[in-house]
Amino acid sequence: MEENVYYIPVLLPIAVNKPYFYRHTKLVTSGSIVKVPISNRETYGVVWHNSDQMDMPDKNKIRNIISVMDINSLPLDLLNFVEWVSNYYLSPLGNVLKASFRVKELERVFKLDACYQIDRNVLIKETPQRKLVEDIFVGDIILTKAEIISKTGVSYSVINHMVKSQKLKAVENNTQNKIFDPNEFRKSKLSKEQDIAARDLIQIFNLKEAQTVVLDGVTGSGKTEVYMKAIEGFLLENKQALVLLPEIALTSEFLIRFKNNFGEFVAEWHSGISIKQRKRVWDGVLSNNIKIIIGARSSLFLPFSDLGLIVVDEEHESAYKQEEGIIYQARDMALVRSMLSNANTILSSATPSLETYVNIRNQKYKKISLNKRYGNANMPLVSIMDMKSSKISKESWIPSELIEKMEGVFNKREQVLLFLNRRGYAPLTICRKCGVRMECPNCSTWLVEHKQFNQFRCHHCGYHSKNINKCLSCFASDTLVPCGPGIERLSEEVRKIFPDIRIAIMSSDHLAGIKDINSTLNQIKSNNIDLIIGTQLVAKGHHFPFLTLVGVIDADFGLGVTDMRATEKTYQLLHQVSGRAGREKRQGEVILLTHMPEHPVLQAIVSGERDLFYEEEAIMRENQSLPPFTRMISLIISSRDKNKVTMASKKLLINSFPPKDITLLGPIEAPIARIRGRYRMRFLLKGPKNNKIQVFVKQWIAKIKIEHDVKITVDVDPYNFL
Ligand code: ADP
Ligand code: ZN
Ligand code: ZN
Repeated sequence: MEENVYYIPVLLPIAVNKPYFYRHTKLVTSGSIVKVPISNRETYGVVWHNSDQMDMPDKNKIRNIISVMDINSLPLDLLNFVEWVSNYYLSPLGNVLKASFRVKELERVFKLDACYQIDRNVLIKETPQRKLVEDIFVGDIILTKAEIISKTGVSYSVINHMVKSQKLKAVENNTQNKIFDPNEFRKSKLSKEQDIAARDLIQIFNLKEAQTVVLDGVTGSGKTEVYMKAIEGFLLENKQALVLLPEIALTSEFLIRFKNNFGEFVAEWHSGISIKQRKRVWDGVLSNNIKIIIGARSSLFLPFSDLGLIVVDEEHESAYKQEEGIIYQARDMALVRSMLSNANTILSSATPSLETYVNIRNQKYKKISLNKRYGNANMPLVSIMDMKSSKISKESWIPSELIEKMEGVFNKREQVLLFLNRRGYAPLTICRKCGVRMECPNCSTWLVEHKQFNQFRCHHCGYHSKNINKCLSCFASDTLVPCGPGIERLSEEVRKIFPDIRIAIMSSDHLAGIKDINSTLNQIKSNNIDLIIGTQLVAKGHHFPFLTLVGVIDADFGLGVTDMRATEKTYQLLHQVSGRAGREKRQGEVILLTHMPEHPVLQAIVSGERDLFYEEEAIMRENQSLPPFTRMISLIISSRDKNKVTMASKKLLINSFPPKDITLLGPIEAPIARIRGRYRMRFLLKGPKNNKIQVFVKQWIAKIKIEHDVKITVDVDPYNFL
């Protein structure tokens, strides 16, 4: 009997650092998904390829594998990636596995309800209820009948009728071995400049070794069209491509462009899609039936069977940094994923990150440029308006020079965007009677007034007050004074000046879901809106044909903060917002309102001397030994009990013996000293760009016993210094 026993390492998607051994009567290939017992329940795990660090426990304690699942095993490059992420970011191996393999999704692989897709070519008589159903099918969404009902409230008979008339079609689950044929799809014709760029790209990707290419093109140059051409080349070789986007709000617009080129070979992946669809995508990617994923950060963890290319769109976006759960930078991990899968990478941006700029300079990455906007569009004219010498009335945020310009634009039936990166009505509120500032009870932050909700809200923990009429400290009524502008207050001012214009307010508070975002975007595109007032939500990626004037209300906003990337981020954001103006035939104009007209960031935006700005920024970072020339790790020690935070931080400090070339700063109280009721202290470590710093932190933390309600959060390559 003994000869038929194998001990198989299985990694479970839970907070464990290594696989466990299970017993089985056959060898099981690594990557296989197996059902196993864990304490008194059953779960799924992955047969691990690497059992180096495991000790064999007492054989009598080893339990049996219950069954080996009958689906493709996970590819080895994915398992390697999981291990890489775990090592680099010091996250438990099992937690990282959970990012690519969630039991809830997996269970769906074995249970199937029919899913439906809409066929827009079938015309049936329109009724309000059918319209409701049609409207929820955005992009390539597929839904079960139950999901349609829960989203729309229509009855089964409405749906059944739509199925009978073939407006809704059941989705085939088995689309095995479909071959991509480019002739089946409609395509844009590339401009001469785009065509040259696309050819250069394809030539680079034909090199023997996988490459990283920066697609450095001005806003509106058609970078998407160019990399779609490159993707086509990979599909023709039956390989897969992943396109990462920083912001989910943009996916449906993108998806339509991709659908036109690649039909059902494309699917989306982000937190907003249904479990059913997740299952379909997960399965489709594993079997290479889905060849292109348009996705958020987490799509890096999908089990691609043959990945050929990863595109990181708007690669400079700080939204690529995931700040919760496994803390990781998706742009950086895209490069690692490519390396481990022998795939190519495109980093696309009009304003590359400094990290990328330095790698172009080092010739680690190749660069392809697009210098012209597509079609007849010109770059916008940018100018600075000095608020110190502008005519502006008290409690007002728009100077009269800008009001005149806005009027001119409205008269031409074109659109204006006012950009202000502050949600709500006012960022700070003071009580006239007791002098207290409205502060969050759970965090050391000011509460933000939101008239729309009749609440003061905390942007860090989700706390909100009952109303906005009473002081939260002395309970007096009507004594509160708002300080400074938020987008609600700005819209109030504009309303008074231009009572008849149509305004769209775009911020995460005003647009609840994908559906809202899409309908607002459509209103803007069809010129049913005159003025857009928005936060950074509108800065990125959008293409509004009628938008010709952009006013940045507070162009200095990012410059006062203590963050080594503040200038870089402000430059990128202002450049991207500016890039929304005049993207078609009409000339665009951008006005930056500021109290610091001489600031180098603003000067660089106006002069258009981008690379000069980057070069100076790079020199400054190098002189100060800051990333990307060094590696940083930040540690946040937090607890509900302030004493315990202090004690744990002291203990860490006393027991720290970093090697000579690693600098340890702290502990200091974090700039936001309390969030969600937890007190916070920070350490910051800086060292050379190798794994020495990770090795040190790992050993350091492992040595220290801390109390159970104290948490240590390790953030490798931090972007957030609050
Ligand atoms: P970028 O990402 O460089 O800012 P996009 O790829 O979004 O630019 O293109 C800007 C706009 O120009 C889009 O609306 C796109 O559809 C259009 N466009 C760009 N190139 C072409 C082309 N070759 N044919 C048709 N439309 C194009
Ligand atoms: Zn709070
Ligand atoms: Zn008061």
